[in-house]
Order: sequence, then structure tokens, then C-alpha cells
Amino acid sequence: MSAPAAPLLSVVIPIYNEQDALPLTVQRLRPILDGIGETYEVVGVDDGSTDDTAAVLTLLQSRWPQLRVVRLRRNSGHQAALTAGLHRALGQYVVSIDADLQDPPEKIVEMLALAREGYDIVQGVRDDRSSDTFFKRSTAGAYYSLMHRLVGREIPKHAGDYRLLSRAAVDALTSLPEAQPVYRLLVPWLGFRSTSVTFQREERVAGSTKYPLSKMVRLAVDSITNFSAAPLRLATWMGLGSFVLAFFLGVYTAIEQVRGVTVPGWSSLFVAVVFFGAVQLVCVGLLGEYVGRIYSAVQGRPAYFIGSDSADLADVVEVPA
Ligand code: UDP
Ligand code: MG
Repeated sequence: MSAPAAPLLSVVIPIYNEQDALPLTVQRLRPILDGIGETYEVVGVDDGSTDDTAAVLTLLQSRWPQLRVVRLRRNSGHQAALTAGLHRALGQYVVSIDADLQDPPEKIVEMLALAREGYDIVQGVRDDRSSDTFFKRSTAGAYYSLMHRLVGREIPKHAGDYRLLSRAAVDALTSLPEAQPVYRLLVPWLGFRSTSVTFQREERVAGSTKYPLSKMVRLAVDSITNFSAAPLRLATWMGLGSFVLAFFLGVYTAIEQVRGVTVPGWSSLFVAVVFFGAVQLVCVGLLGEYVGRIYSAVQGRPAYFIGSDSADLADVVEVPA
């Protein structure tokens, strides 16, 4: 099969169980892309949806020739779905956008204009998160300030995965051998010339969030371990702290002993044993997080599998992460 001609713009949409949101998203996105008046493609990545998303995509595709559908064999997560899309996007500029219309697609026009001025990265930044729940806002706030500290670089606050990347930036990203990429950290780290557009994060049009607490924790742990070995150093600091504490306690006990005072000690002993047991378990756990990641990096398994029913027949090969 001959390779399709590269369009100017690719729009990558990771999709997981979005049967209700998809038709609305397409309804709003299509006129905008048609209105730009350039060649474009839309790469919809079905991240192993279990609802009717697959059928909805097939239907949409029959009416929208620019829509390519990549089906992953099983749910691999938002970032992996994004990876699959980035690997397949052919455009000179690639925009990644959520399927639930929380990222207003109108901003693509603005992003493209900035990219044509020479920016390799145009990051979408939420200027307020009032449409998110209080819980999401506060956890996100904590996430970004922690990341800023760990990565040691300016991480655009409230920058999600709505952004435009130039071909050079996409190639740089997809050539990284990361098993668990966290794009919002990797993209600024690349060091390309970048700018941002602000937007109001809207309410999800339909369905419910696909980021339950467990996935948010996963993303946070991935983010930390991807960029920093600082947690490993925590063990050293805690060990040193305990050593100093133990030293002074020892001196104190010895003095009391000499003065003939019996040190009543059962409860403090018990607390100390439990405390240090906990500290050690936390340290072993932290170590485990890193060892686990080394293990999966050594295994080198692909981050996702393309399903054999993928309608995007141009390339059904599996690309390792
Ligand atoms: N998504 C995905 N795989 C997943 C979870 C989410 O492809 O395992 C997609 C989802 O369909 C949406 C985007 O990632 O297009 C962001 O997810 P969601 O809107 O649920 O996250 P939130 O906006 O609540 O953070
Ligand atoms: Mg959303």
C-alpha cells in the first residue's frame, strides 16, 4: 500500500469509552478543521473502549474521509494512546486534544498561527479550572508544584495534553525510548522554542471522567519517577535523621542511668519500633517503584498493541514504545 500524502495538520484524539461525547466532538471539530483550508487528518485512537465507541468511530469514519482510526487491542491508558497517535500522525503539525470537548477545538486555529511563526511547541494552558471539581483542582495544584520542584524546570502550570507540536518536536518525542512517557513533563524538557495559548477548560460534554483516583495516582507516581531519583535520597535523609535522633536518645539514656533514674521505656520503645518499621517499609516501597520501572524497561514490551481490526490499514505494524 502506498503511503498516504502527508497533510499539514494532524489532530490526535485519545478515546476511551466516549460513545456519547464523540459525535458532539466531531460536530464541533470538523467545521473548524475544514475552515482552516489546509490539508489535515484526524487520528482517533480507540484505547480499547468497552462501550460502543468502536461502532461510533466506524460510522463517523464513513462520513469523514479525513478521520483515521487506530484501535488498540486493550486499554493502555491516556498517555499510551497518545503515543500510538503520535507514532501514526503524518502531519507537519500535530495537535493532541481530548475527546470530551474540555479543550475547546477553536484554539487549534490560534495554535497553528503561532506554529507558523516558528514555534515548535504551542502549549494549551487552562486559565482557570472552575469547571473542574474542587478535588481535581487541589490535587492538580499540588501535582504541578511538586513537578516544578522535582523536574527543576519551568513546567507550564495547568498545562494538560492539549498542545501543538511541530514535526521536529514529534520526531524528538517519539524517538525517546520511554516506556511510560508523561508528555506534559517531557515536552517542556525537550527544550524546543515554545509558547502557549490560554483557554477556558469547559465541562465534559458527555460521559464521565476516565481518570479515577487510581489513574491520577499512577500518573503522579510515573511523573515523579520519570524525572527524579530524589525519593530514593529520602531514605538516606531519613536514615541520617534517625541516626542523629538515636544518638541523642542514647546519650540521654546513659545520663539518666548514671543518675540512677530508671528510664520507663515500654511505650517509647514500642513507638520507636513501629516508627522505624514504617520508615523502612516506605523506603523499600520507593526502591520497588524504581526497580519495577527498570524491570519493565528491560523487558522492553510495547506500550500498546494495535488491534487487527484497526481501520487504519496504512500501518498495522506494532511500534515498540
Ligand atoms: N483516555 C484514554 N485512555 C484512558 C483514559 C482516558 O484514551 O485510559 C482519554 C479520554 O477518552 C479523553 C482523554 O483521555 O479523551 C482525557 O480523559 P478524561 O477526560 O477522562 O480525563 P479528565 O479530563 O477528567 O482529566
Ligand atoms: Mg476530560
